[in-house]
Amino acid sequence: MEEKIIQIAGSITVDELSQALGLSVTELIGTLFKNGIVATINQRLDFETAQIIIDELGLKDVKLEKKNTSTKTSDYHRELSDKAVLRPPVVAVMGHVDHGKTTLLDTLLKKKTVEKEAGGITQHISAYQLKHDDRLITFLDTPGHEAFAAIRQHGAMLTDIVIIVVAADDGVKPQTIEAINFAKSANAKIIVAINKIDREGADINRTMADLSQHGLQPEEWGGDITMVPISAKKDQNLDQLIDMVLLTADIEELKADIDIPAEGLVIESHMETGKGSVVNLLVTGGELKTGEFIVAGSTYGKVRTMLDWQGKPKGKATPSTPVTVTGFKELPNFGDRFIEVKDEKTARKHALLNAQAAANETADTNVTSTDLLRMMNVADNTKTFNVIIKGDVLGSVTSVVDSLRMIDTKGEITLNIVSTGVGDINENDVYLSAGEDTIIYGFNVNVPINISKMAARDNVPIRTYKVIYELLDDAKHEMENLLDAEIVEEDQGELKVLGVFRTEKTSIIAGGEVLKGDVKPGYLVRVVRNKKYLGEAEVASTQKEKIEVKELIAGETGGLALKTEHKIDLQIGDRLKFFTREAKKRTL
Ligand code: GDP
Repeated sequence: MEEKIIQIAGSITVDELSQALGLSVTELIGTLFKNGIVATINQRLDFETAQIIIDELGLKDVKLEKKNTSTKTSDYHRELSDKAVLRPPVVAVMGHVDHGKTTLLDTLLKKKTVEKEAGGITQHISAYQLKHDDRLITFLDTPGHEAFAAIRQHGAMLTDIVIIVVAADDGVKPQTIEAINFAKSANAKIIVAINKIDREGADINRTMADLSQHGLQPEEWGGDITMVPISAKKDQNLDQLIDMVLLTADIEELKADIDIPAEGLVIESHMETGKGSVVNLLVTGGELKTGEFIVAGSTYGKVRTMLDWQGKPKGKATPSTPVTVTGFKELPNFGDRFIEVKDEKTARKHALLNAQAAANETADTNVTSTDLLRMMNVADNTKTFNVIIKGDVLGSVTSVVDSLRMIDTKGEITLNIVSTGVGDINENDVYLSAGEDTIIYGFNVNVPINISKMAARDNVPIRTYKVIYELLDDAKHEMENLLDAEIVEEDQGELKVLGVFRTEKTSIIAGGEVLKGDVKPGYLVRVVRNKKYLGEAEVASTQKEKIEVKELIAGETGGLALKTEHKIDLQIGDRLKFFTREAKKRTL
């Protein structure tokens, strides 16, 4: 039979699904009902729920597909015209923790920033530009690999070149591999900076060998990856590294059109008192000017002020330029694409259309697969981890949320994000959490004293962090606490029963020879006769020649008292197998 494909954009109503399946609405509602869901004809089902229903109905020839209605950057690819001009490369520095990313950027900034204004650099630079031989290079700062994963999820492939920093005295490490994978998936060119060559123990050859094991073949060895040995700290070979970045940019012929409406990506956004929305953008095409109307996702605005990365006013931003603008009505999302439109009316219309598309994709679902699974009792043992996430800027909130979602909970824990937001932890957050076993996580935000008092009174845990890894570790730890413990049993010894002195309903007194291991009060015991299991008991006490002892060891004969739950008719010749049982905490 031919396969039937049903496309679902976010969710589908019961009515639509029944029509698509060629089933009556009553039949579909009946199936939902059997699974514990009382649905009406207009009820919306999410993708997973629809899939479960189709499986339930045994419709093997029906295939569900997610329809992509987003207008995000991933769907977006512009053909360059022959009038396109060269633009600066957009570079990200990645690598394992402590391999020297920050030091490299710091040294480069000190060396290459034309104007070194004290205080000119704000706390949240998400991008900066360096000048070398009169050419600009745009660097994107990334708070961590999680943020990159988030960017990837948002489909924004905004880096041309990834500099992977590897410490020559440490070699390839897990985050080095992540960086390699990221660069490859983002289709970015890779340049390796083999760092810390000033250090004793630095071994450039071994590092190169290590890298080639992971698919990066150095040019010196006939491969295609440029590797530059550097010392970020001692400023050795950094010019050479930057030359290589520019050379790669030349080979790649990185270009953009400038006589088109301005466009680009949102790389950061937050609210500021007195200024409203403060949004960092990376222009990828056209020229953005103050006074122009721009749309990003479901919000829009008129560019009121525009500053360069050092906080200086900028009238016009060309491709690959990072700028900070004010004027957006609401905060756009990290990774959203922005475009310039001709007037406010058009801007409003585009924003509305984007909002509708997004709503179609996500919201409006009144039945989720979690509800369904819960009702079907399939996921009986899943636990819910409730959190509220607050961050200083939207980008950090997105990163934290995306990273939390990426923690593999082995299907045993459902992450429930009760709410998210930008700004300090407030009363509302505490209200939302009280009595609900919800943890409030804050990233780079403060907890006003009255709020922390309120939280203490209501037993609401608030955890604030400045390092994303630490926040994630804490969340992981909390999730581990929710996991059912693993029961671990360990064999301890064996005894052959030589005499049975008393058997009562809940106690047995017997004697025998310890064949192996030892016997101690507190051990559990399985009673076995001719390899058949008769029951379980616990050792209450051990005796030798009628005197209580702490243990009996292999080769000794002695007596023991057992506690049982049910009567066990112990006989001479039975074997007692001793063991301990421990509930071990599990990890993720
Ligand atoms: P990140 O975690 O990758 O950002 O690493 P950092 O830039 O914070 O560097 C970690 C440590 O390595 C710091 O103590 C740096 O001073 C040191 N470090 C970075 N680059 C070099 C280098 O080229 N030589 C030496 N000797 N130390 C370096």
